[in-house]
Amino acid sequence: MQERIIAMLEFARQLVRAEMERFECPHDGEYDGGDNVCKECIDGPECQWLYATDTVAALESRSIDQLSEALEFAIISVAANAIEKEHNPQTCRCPVCGWLIQAEALQAEIQGH
Ligand SMILES: [Zn+2]
Repeated sequence: MQERIIAMLEFARQLVRAEMERFECPHDGEYDGGDNVCKECIDGPECQWLYATDTVAALESRSIDQLSEALEFAIISVAANAIEKEHNPQTCRCPVCGWLIQAEALQAEIQGH
């Protein structure tokens, strides 16, 4: 189960990172809690999430609950992005919408435990 959640998170991380690049982040998406630029940045929550789910954060050692929390944030963030671009995950066949459907199914599976 852990591996499936981590694989799911990886796609979201790539998306969030690509979004981040549009905003010319001075830290290149590496959240720095000591920098006011990061504290005041509108992308702060996404960035902290990205940082918290970075490979160096040893996702393998996280509990299912913690990973589920990270996945929940990823779903909200990716869904907001899809809506902004006027995608409808129910009918759209793009990779982003496909990911949303799969991620929500996985989340339901985790919570069904
Ligand atoms: Zn789509």
